[in-house]
Amino acid sequence: MVCMRIVVVAGGVGGARFLRGVLAAEPGAEVTAVVNTGDDVTMHGLRVCPDLDTVMYTLGDGIDPGRGWGRRDETWTVKSELAAYGAEPTWFGLGDRDLATHLVRTRMLDAGYPLSQVTAALAERWQPGVTLLPMSDQRVETHVVVTDPDTGRPQAIHFQEWWVRHRAALDASAFVQVGVDEARPAPGVLEAFAAADAVLLAPSNPVVSVGTVLGVPGLREGLLASPARVVGLSPIVGGDVVRGMADRCLPVVGVEVSAEGVGRHYGSRADGGLLDAWLVHETDRADVPGVDVRAVPLLMDSPEATAAMARAALDAAGV
Ligand code: GDP
Ligand code: CA
Repeated sequence: MVCMRIVVVAGGVGGARFLRGVLAAEPGAEVTAVVNTGDDVTMHGLRVCPDLDTVMYTLGDGIDPGRGWGRRDETWTVKSELAAYGAEPTWFGLGDRDLATHLVRTRMLDAGYPLSQVTAALAERWQPGVTLLPMSDQRVETHVVVTDPDTGRPQAIHFQEWWVRHRAALDASAFVQVGVDEARPAPGVLEAFAAADAVLLAPSNPVVSVGTVLGVPGLREGLLASPARVVGLSPIVGGDVVRGMADRCLPVVGVEVSAEGVGRHYGSRADGGLLDAWLVHETDRADVPGVDVRAVPLLMDSPEATAAMARAALDAAGV
């Protein structure tokens, strides 16, 4: 029997948890994760890919379950040594164990390997059980346009600075994907969409995770050309984010913080949007014209609940 092929568009924590559910729901499936790299950043000379690492560590059982990112049993010696030198930035935590990943990645990138091959090499160790693909081998970095408090003029800062340093508290007027014009989908991405039996949009941040992935030229077209049904899952439950600060991102792009707002933002595949089906939490309602909207439990608070949620998505995809 040919096994089921599932493609999941994912960000970090929400994407990683959902992927774990997909693997539990369909243990025999061939799963490809197309992961946001717009959060990537160079810190202390090292290339850091937060969402790829969150997915890799989560599926490889190396994640710190409390934080939801970074390594379990982490120590912070290097961080405090850097701080003792006054080495900026001090607001971005790189743990000692985690640093090894960034050292290997940076060395391979400097040697000329594309990010997709570097990611595959790192995944050899972690065996995430999915094919882990960056959205693109080209650098695309999300920047956030904020108002400079000193000059009152617009200023673009790296997404990580906005998110981690300022806790998304600075009012943003736009997100900009620096480098996106030169980007192409990474090797394997379009092939995965073309061969998919189901395409799932994880309950990830619709703007700076899913939106960034879909912003890579050609990627959205590849997804829409897939013979599979496209099913999205709402990261908004009861008009609020389940965790994180996605509620700070949606208004910037003019989207209401609700399951219906995000569903309408993604839109119906029948008229230029993305979705064949949209899953909202059982207590939510959403009217998204042209889309099969289903209300099911969408809280990933146990492995069983997460697997059931993935199963509901696959049901909506007709597989
Ligand atoms: P990040 O890159 O680490 O910010 O993670 P993602 O973009 O992949 O996911 C962030 C989103 O996951 C947030 O908007 C949360 O609302 C959503 N999320 C987290 N846990 C759950 C959950 O249990 N259920 C649902 N439906 N969404 C969740
Ligand atoms: Ca992220």
